[in-house]
Amino acid sequence: MMGPQHALSGAAVWLAGSWALEQFADYHQSPLALAVGTAVCAGGALFPDLDMSGKVTKNQGGATVARTFGVFSLFAAEVMEKISLGVYYATKLSKDPRRNNGHRTLTHTLPFTVLVGWGTTALCAAYGKWAVITILFFMFGLALRGLFDEWAERAGWVIITLASAGAAWFTYANLPGGRGYPLIGTALGVGCFVHILGDMITRAGVPILWPIPIKRRMWMMIGLPNRIALRVGSKAEVVGMRIALTVVSALATVGLVAPSVLSRFDIEI
Ligand SMILES: [Zn+2]
Repeated sequence: MMGPQHALSGAAVWLAGSWALEQFADYHQSPLALAVGTAVCAGGALFPDLDMSGKVTKNQGGATVARTFGVFSLFAAEVMEKISLGVYYATKLSKDPRRNNGHRTLTHTLPFTVLVGWGTTALCAAYGKWAVITILFFMFGLALRGLFDEWAERAGWVIITLASAGAAWFTYANLPGGRGYPLIGTALGVGCFVHILGDMITRAGVPILWPIPIKRRMWMMIGLPNRIALRVGSKAEVVGMRIALTVVSALATVGLVAPSVLSRFDIEI
């Protein structure tokens, strides 16, 4: 799965989940909260690939997420990759192979997902406004990069940075204040989880069971058999998946927004 599919799957899962919560649990969200949650979940669904470093000095390479903020995010990816590799070696057992790159290790585990969700929630609760606005800024950048990849490629990272900053500020100014916003942490954590599932389907191997040791391996790679995974990741299926995810997102959005539009219409009549 490439960046755009990851981002789109994050958005689709959040929208579909919000629709289900509204239908079956009577849980309503304002349009702004819904948009923020969707963007954060889409951005979060790119976040685990921050462990894929590129060439910082040449401003090249890295995953979609690593290019979002130019050399700054490439540098962050470099650090994340090294930390991941460090954790890999610190916890590896005798049957785990040697590696020279940390990609698809620590950031593709359930503890990481939980840590990101919990950490975000804790930051927002502790620091309020500034934590919220900073996290939204980063997540909007990732979401823009992932969901509008062709535009983002043309626009370049400076425009993306400015657009994310503007969107983060607008959101903060319009969200009701004085709260911790657990929604942001939840959306980020769910996004990371969706990313891991996406990697399991389209590429063989994510260490989803870490840190549970199995057969003297701590980093057992789990996913579809290589042959099937490669097929699911083929170009035709990627396009098919993209269409399916877009349809799911669109249907969920209509399902969420239509009732309130219709009821407003009724009142006006
Ligand atoms: Zn990944």
